[in-house]
Formats: sequence, C-alpha cells, structure tokens
Amino acid sequence: MKKGLILCILIFITGCNNKINQVETIMEQNLNSNICINYPITNISKLDILIEKTVSNIHKDFKKNTSSTLNNKSELNIDYSYYEINNYTMITLTSYINDTINTKNFIETFLYDSNQNKLLDINDVIDTSNTKYFSFDENYFYLYNNINNEIETKKYEISDLNLKIDISNNEIKKIENKTETKTKILDPNGKFIALTFDDGPSIYTNKIIELLKEYDINATFFILGNKVEIYKDILKKSIEYGNELGNHSYNHKWLIKLDDESIKEQVNKTQEVIKNTLGYTPTLFRPTYGSLNEKVKKDTNLKIVLWNVDTLDWKYKNVNSIVERATKKLKDGNIILMHETYKRSYEALKKIIPIIKEKGFTFVTISELEEINKLRAYEK
Ligand code: ZN
Repeated sequence: MKKGLILCILIFITGCNNKINQVETIMEQNLNSNICINYPITNISKLDILIEKTVSNIHKDFKKNTSSTLNNKSELNIDYSYYEINNYTMITLTSYINDTINTKNFIETFLYDSNQNKLLDINDVIDTSNTKYFSFDENYFYLYNNINNEIETKKYEISDLNLKIDISNNEIKKIENKTETKTKILDPNGKFIALTFDDGPSIYTNKIIELLKEYDINATFFILGNKVEIYKDILKKSIEYGNELGNHSYNHKWLIKLDDESIKEQVNKTQEVIKNTLGYTPTLFRPTYGSLNEKVKKDTNLKIVLWNVDTLDWKYKNVNSIVERATKKLKDGNIILMHETYKRSYEALKKIIPIIKEKGFTFVTISELEEINKLRAYEK
C-alpha cells in the first residue's frame, strides 16, 4: 500500500516537470540559401543533447552540400512537434530541404520515459516493425519509412495495436476563454509609427512586451504557429497588454516555393493554433522572408503586411547600427521590421523607443495604423 502511494507521487512530480520551456531558433539568409531551424529545449538533458546533435548534423550537411548557383537558392527548414502523455515525452523532428531540383523530407522521433529516465526506441514500443521511425498522438500510431527523400507514412489506430507502453489519454482538454482586447482613441492628426516583430515568440518576448508596457505602447508580432503552445502564457499576456498578433506561417517555410495546398496549410494551421490556444483570431499575415507571389496572395485571405523600415537586426550584430537603421529616416506611417529572436534586438529596442518618442511619433499596432489611414482618407 505504502509503496504504491510513494510511486504515484513521484510520477506526478516528474510528469509536471517535462515541459518545453524554450524554442531555439536559427535563421540564416544569404545568396545561396534560406535557413530556418526551430527545435525545443525540454530540460531533459538526454533528450536535449540528442536533438541538438541531430539538428547540428543536418545543418552542417546542408551547408556542405549547398552549391552556389546564384539564381537557384536552396532552403533548409527544420521543425518539431511535441507530445507529452503519462510519463512519456516525444519530440518529432522533421527536416525539409528544397535545393530547387529536389525536395528532401526526413522525419525522426525521440521518445523519453521519465519513469526510467531513458530514451526509448521502436523496440521498446512495438514488437514487430521494419522501420525505426515512428510517432503517435492521442488516437493514432504512425510508422515512417524515409525512402528516396520522401516520407512514407502508415497510420494505425492505437487501440488496434499491442503496444509495450501505455499511451492512453485520460486527460480532458480545457477550453480556453476568449481574451478581450482594449480599444484606444487615436487622433489622425498625429504622426504614427508601427513596430513589428517577426519569427517569435521566443525567450525575449516577455522582456519586449514588458518594455513596451513601461512606455505604455503596443506593437504587432508576426508569430510562428509551431511556437504558440509553448509560449501561450506570454502570448496571452501580450494580448492583454494590447499588442497585436499576426500570422507568419506555421514553421517558416519559404512560401513562394510551395504549392497552393501547402501554403494554405501553413496559414490555416497557424490561425487554428492561435485561435484554439489563445482565443484570438489574427487578421494580418506577413509572408516568410518577405517573399510574395500571386500564389501566396491568393492562398491567404488575411491582410498581407510588409514593412518599409528594415532594421536588418538578423544580419547586423551591432546594437547601435540597428538603432540607427530604425530611427534615422522615419516618416509618418512607417512600419519598422525587427525580430524578437535576438537579444541584440531587445537591447536596440530599449534605445529605439525613446528616440522615436522624442521625434514626436505615437506608436500604434498595424490595425490601428490602418484605422488611422481610413480616417484620414475619409476626412479628405
Ligand atoms: Zn520571418
């Protein structure tokens, strides 16, 4: 009796600790390639070491094999999914390489058992299988074959299989409450600037929104769908503070290279996760790498928002040069592009806000800026 009770408490405690608390993002753009890598940090060292090593190997291989033909830019995209059930934490990494001749897809799953503090492979999960790649969710178990750069998927009902681990779900999903956003009164006779941040949320988001709050200003954040769940508390706070969220695709694939169906999936999956997790529906969309074509325009019914002041904070590591680019030639109605995935961007923002305020501009979100433009058009 006593033993059973102690065991239950231990499971409960370890179960609570296994959450992702951070997503690592690597973004690189140059003449030869667009690279976007997102992977989770779980604070389970066995899992984190393996994931980091796997990601780093794919990244290195891609760089080694990318040929430099200027008009044929290649793309590497690494994304993840996270699933936690009972004492198991599962991370699935998917990598996608588009070298303009071929697309290569690869999938690999890492499964950790917190009761045994060990990583499990396919043999720990199911008896007979001719592949080592698998994953599962609430209802289905998947087996993958990575053949000829494509992923062949076989799907089974969990209840039909004789699995060696217990992945049955007893939890009831909570329904999130809708968050009310506040409205402000804006005088169209002023001078306005919209700050926008791409590629988040990240470990710097909280600092950024707290800084904005100190100045009682708001910004627009074009976020990635695959990071919403992990940073949902910070995102909820951001919405409460009056910031605007826009859609920046699910995992930052280079959209102009995708077919219609995949573009729609990138946009709609992000809309869904934001709506289901935060009770918020974005109305704005910013295409990845700022690349637009007719397909992308047609496949999203959200308002497309680009920018006209580029801080190039992803490229320049010097805080002052970011500040200079953001503040030098500002005009009424400008939209400033920054990224919330770099510490230097946050450091620059601390200097940027007071300089812009000093110049007499009022900070607004993109939707507020549109509202002002409408009012002005009406008054003319
Ligand atoms: Zn981006």
